[in-house]
Amino acid sequence: MKPKRLAEKIHKRLLDFYGPPDWRPGLSPAAELVSTILSQNTNDTNRDRAFKNLRKRFPTWEEVRDAPAEDIIQAIKTAGLANQKGPRIKHALQKITDREDDISLDFLKSMGVEKAKKWLTDIKGVGPKTAAIVLLFALEMPAFPVDTHVHRVTGRVGLRPSNMNASKSHSFLEKVFSPDEYYAAHLNLIKLGREICKSRKPECPVCPLNDFCSYYQEKVE
Ligand code: SF4
Repeated sequence: MKPKRLAEKIHKRLLDFYGPPDWRPGLSPAAELVSTILSQNTNDTNRDRAFKNLRKRFPTWEEVRDAPAEDIIQAIKTAGLANQKGPRIKHALQKITDREDDISLDFLKSMGVEKAKKWLTDIKGVGPKTAAIVLLFALEMPAFPVDTHVHRVTGRVGLRPSNMNASKSHSFLEKVFSPDEYYAAHLNLIKLGREICKSRKPECPVCPLNDFCSYYQEKVE
């Protein structure tokens, strides 16, 4: 099956199975960027704790930007890798100020997706996943974030080439899904990856994609 046709089939099947995901109330783009940097290599609970703590300690982004890195590290330590994430957050906020005078990423909206991605990924510590999350969730721009779950599920089901890395998968999946499907497809693939297509032990017999999944078809034959 052609990738576009398969993507459409996956999207529809997941919508039937899970329903359309609720629209997540968005953070501001700058807050989404900070939150996504905090989420690297940790779970949502630890990320949210660190984010809340950071906001409590420094109520404005300007204060975070101007704070000594050690104080930011201290505030976000529940997120793990705080020694990396603290300076990255400070640097990202400084880069935004250098461009805009204030801490706002709204200018990305007028740039178009590819230029906006490039602007974000030029910031040290901001990769394609983080950039796509900021664009999709905070700016409602058509970008498709590929996290570990999306990457695993799309590989097993046979939607993307098996040897394609996560970084390249962003542009590939943006081509095969339509922009109006990005939000729901992204969230439903994550849900499937967390609940059914788990890394170690996928529960294929109860999976809504099992009748056309390459991984499962190879196993049952
Ligand atoms: S059938 Fe199995 S391997 Fe395929 S997507 Fe579903 S859970 Fe994952």
